[in-house]
Amino acid sequence: MTIAVRTLDDAAWISVNDSRQVSVSDVWTLSRGVFCDCEPAYVLLKAFVDVGVDGPIVVADAIGQCLDCGTRDSIDRLPVGRIVDGDFRPYDPEGVQWRVEPDTENP
Ligand SMILES: [Zn+2]
Repeated sequence: MTIAVRTLDDAAWISVNDSRQVSVSDVWTLSRGVFCDCEPAYVLLKAFVDVGVDGPIVVADAIGQCLDCGTRDSIDRLPVGRIVDGDFRPYDPEGVQWRVEPDTENP
């Protein structure tokens, strides 16, 4: 199974298998410390720098800006969705998606 991912439209979209799936201008909720000091941080994505596949997870390098404190920085390997049975299932941008230490959560 080959998953084709790329950015489109001047880094405004992530395409998965030639279908536009994830757009910038969504606000992602990131947990404290990974982007700025806000908890959580509401980060408006400005651009996708790169996109890749890590196992079943589609990850993006992006530029974002915190809506509260104004920090503007890059985000490395933000999980934006996953591949299930060949279909892309986007994550909910409003969920806390990204942690420096994933071990801190025990599902
Ligand atoms: Zn902030």
